[in-house]
Amino acid sequence: MKLRVLGCYGAKMPGYATSAFLVGDSILLDAGAVTSRLTLKEQVKIRSVLISHTHIDHLKDVLFLADNIQGRNSHSIYIYGSRGVVRAIQKNLFNWKIWPDFTKIPSPRHPMVRFKVIPVGKKFRVEGRRVLAFKSNHTVESVGYLVEGDKGWLLYSGDTGPNPKMWKLVNAIGNVKAMIVDVSFPNEMEKLARVSRHMTPRMLEEDMKHLKDRGVKIYIFHMKPAYLQTISRELRKLTDPPVTILSPGTKIEF
Ligand SMILES: [Zn+2]
Ligand SMILES: [Zn+2]
Repeated sequence: MKLRVLGCYGAKMPGYATSAFLVGDSILLDAGAVTSRLTLKEQVKIRSVLISHTHIDHLKDVLFLADNIQGRNSHSIYIYGSRGVVRAIQKNLFNWKIWPDFTKIPSPRHPMVRFKVIPVGKKFRVEGRRVLAFKSNHTVESVGYLVEGDKGWLLYSGDTGPNPKMWKLVNAIGNVKAMIVDVSFPNEMEKLARVSRHMTPRMLEEDMKHLKDRGVKIYIFHMKPAYLQTISRELRKLTDPPVTILSPGTKIEF
C-alpha cells in the first residue's frame, strides 16, 4: 500500500490544500486537491474516486479533473459514493449549470465520468482491492473507507465527530496498519467541533480509548489551518498511542 497526501486541511489558505489522498497511481480518497497537486500525466492515470461526502472541500477537484483529462484517456473515471452522495453530485454539480454533465460527454455511451453507488457496510472491490465503507458521524450523509493493501488495511475516517463504532470496526477487522483521522479544531473550540461534527485533540483521546491494538499508526488530517499551531501542540501531548500530523506530500507505506 502506497498512499500520498495531496491535501489534508479543513480549509484553504496559501500552502494549505483540502482533503485528497492518492492510493497507488489510480485511486483517490476524496478529491479536495487533485488538479493543483498532480501533473497532467498523473491525473490521466486516475480511474477511481471514492468520495466520503458532498462537502466541497472533499469534492471540488472532480470537476476540474474531468475537464483536464477529456480526450486524453480511453477510460471513464468512476466516482464512488453512497446513494445520496452520488445523487447530490449528479444533481447539483454535473448538471450543465454549475459544470458540464461529464456523464454525457463526449457521449452517454462513452462518458468521461460514471457513478457507482457503494454498498455501505459491505465489502466491495475497486481495481482489485477490497474496500469497506462505514458510516461516519457528520452533519450530512457521510462515510469513511477501509482500503486493503498487500500487508493490511488503511482506514480513512472521512469528516467525523466521535465515532466509537469506527474504532470497534478496526478491532473487529484486525490487521489495520494505519488510520487517517479527523481533528479539525483545538480543544478550546470543542463546542463548535461538536456542532459541526468534527474532533478536537481531547475528543480524539477519548475516542481512541475504544482502540485495542495500540500499534496502529494514527495520522491526523482536516486541521483548520488558522488553528494549526495550537492543534499541533495539543496533539503532540497524546502519547497512548502517539499520533502523526499529516502534511501535503507525506507518504504512508506499508
Ligand atoms: Zn471537510
Ligand atoms: Zn464535511
